[in-house]
Amino acid sequence: MKVTAIIPAAGSGKRLNAKKQFLKLLGKPLISYTISEFESCQSVDDIIVISAKDDIEQTKELLKGFKKVKKIIEGGAERQDSVYNGINSVEVESEEDIILIHDGARPLITRDIISKAISEAKVAKAVVVGVPSKDTIKTVSKDGIVAETLDRKAIWLVQTPQVFSFSVIKEAYERAKRIGYKATDDSKLVERLGISVKIVMGSYENIKITTSEDIAIAEAILKGRGA
Ligand code: C5P
Repeated sequence: MKVTAIIPAAGSGKRLNAKKQFLKLLGKPLISYTISEFESCQSVDDIIVISAKDDIEQTKELLKGFKKVKKIIEGGAERQDSVYNGINSVEVESEEDIILIHDGARPLITRDIISKAISEAKVAKAVVVGVPSKDTIKTVSKDGIVAETLDRKAIWLVQTPQVFSFSVIKEAYERAKRIGYKATDDSKLVERLGISVKIVMGSYENIKITTSEDIAIAEAILKGRGA
């Protein structure tokens, strides 16, 4: 069973006012931390990175030392379009091959969590990594009034990696494309096929670098890891 990791890194980084993948963390580009964990994870065979068209050359140059990076391809207008391009560029050996999707903007992922998610996906077909919510979550109406308080025991914050068998994620993405359905994560498209998605414990450190305060947090965590 071949395992291909698709890393979408084609976002515009609007909320940071900077191209996230090239942003420096302790002097090194963010994307190189992310790719390094996949390169050193024995369960991963190939890596496909999705980049904005204008950044493909710079990304190639930056990642040229990583042997598992087989392709750097062009992304689309939204994350879902970028991942769709990635899925279509996978060189599949069998329908049972494993496809792992991980945000380029989550550089604090570890190879242990990647391995654990892949092992689970060999049995479950669809696996997401997440953490139980520490806070109480409420839905709020447009005029700022609390509508509902959710049961915290049942709330998980979902991260990436998200891992699927090729046949499942391909069908989920093709169906979404056909009907023009958009979701904020990959597993939602799989849920719509009626397939159960298993959640495995990730890490509170696996944050997505989104706003400027995330940079300081990420650097503190990396320092703690001896980076
Ligand atoms: O925008 P958001 O923070 O949800 O992005 C998550 C990941 O998806 C980031 O790594 C980003 O680079 C990527 N992305 C992409 N193509 C887009 C938008 C986001 O590959 N059009």
